[in-house]
Amino acid sequence: MKKILVTGGAGFVGSHLCKRLLNEGNEIICLDNYFTGAKSNIIELLDHPYFEMVRHDITEPFYAEVDEIYNLACPASPVHYQYNPIKTIKTSVMGAINVLGLAKRVKAKVLQASTSEVYGDPLVHPQPESYWGHVNPIGIRSCYDEGKRCAETLFMDYHNQNDVAIKIIRIFNTYGPNMNPADGRVVSNFIVQALEGKDITIFGDGLQTRSFQYVDDLVEGMIRMMASEPAFLGPVNLGNPNEFTMLELAQAVIKLTGSKSKIIHMDLPQDDPKQRQPDITLAKAKLEGWEPKIQLEEGLQTTINYFDTLLMKK
Ligand code: NAD
Ligand code: UDP
Ligand code: UDP
Repeated sequence: MKKILVTGGAGFVGSHLCKRLLNEGNEIICLDNYFTGAKSNIIELLDHPYFEMVRHDITEPFYAEVDEIYNLACPASPVHYQYNPIKTIKTSVMGAINVLGLAKRVKAKVLQASTSEVYGDPLVHPQPESYWGHVNPIGIRSCYDEGKRCAETLFMDYHNQNDVAIKIIRIFNTYGPNMNPADGRVVSNFIVQALEGKDITIFGDGLQTRSFQYVDDLVEGMIRMMASEPAFLGPVNLGNPNEFTMLELAQAVIKLTGSKSKIIHMDLPQDDPKQRQPDITLAKAKLEGWEPKIQLEEGLQTTINYFDTLLMKK
């Protein structure tokens, strides 16, 4: 039995990760300040004797004795990370320093949840890990993008300078049950709008693309990355290479929900990346042939069922 700290464990991805690690027989400390996460995401885990929930802000030091750390604490959707941009960058940077200081002290292995946002609005397509990115350092997305880039730097420097065992993953757009319905991310927005019969809001012409990964595929990749050979530090892309326009996503959601919602177009936010697709050659080679198994229709259906039940309860 390993003792594992999951920061941001009450969030969307964190809650799935905690559940999987607990089911595999580990002891979990789930740390969260509930900014975008919710107790409802982990409520079924709270009675488990090897699950411990800690309300804590990762910008403050944290002391515990653990074997592994998954560092996920950080708001992930543009609406939430732009709400208090200074806090967002503090969470990425000071949060990274604190989990790295903890990992150094207790000799734990620590995995950083980085993001495809480090590539910015990419000039190389699809994006391999060797691409350094095209990021505006002073735009509305910078608090998130640059915070995550700086966290990657800190992880590498703690490894090189202090011998901390690190792993870095770059997550591409991920969706599934437990997404916050008010999160503003495109999959949750479109599904909630379709189920409520409201207009589906496409930003811009809807021809920008994203590659959508179902959360179970991501969690599998995270666990394989944590268990990978010590010399493999990453960064490694984890995402589904199937690429869709936002228009295609809206049409798929309308079809699967049978909704009568209309598509409307709204202004495209500043610095919105035009395209995004992971090159997952490295993940396949280093993570025992890992690749996404759940494609868009199947994953959307599960997510639609989740939001349907959630909205019904309300
Ligand atoms: P989320 O917002 O659901 O989860 C983040 C969690 O961190 C929330 O529970 C939130 O309350 C918590 N948190 C935020 N600030 C904190 C702080 N200062 N101290 C303690 N807890 C704090 O988002 P998610 O989609 O689950 O994302 C999890 C991680 O994965 C994030 O680091 C995100 O940047 C990364 N990521 C996610 C995606 C995606 O598409 N879902 C893509 C790229 C990267
Ligand atoms: N830290 C922490 N938990 C620990 C050990 C360290 O939160 O178990 C914090 C510590 O407060 C410091 C940060 O991690 O702010 C970085 O620690 P490090 O030892 O690298 O730096 P130093 O304490 O020398 O500044
Ligand atoms: N988007 C949209 N309608 C919405 C929410 C988002 O058209 O209601 C677009 C957004 O402009 C972006 C894409 O969908 O081009 C993905 O947005 P999201 O915030 O989910 O992720 P990110 O931009 O961080 O990849």
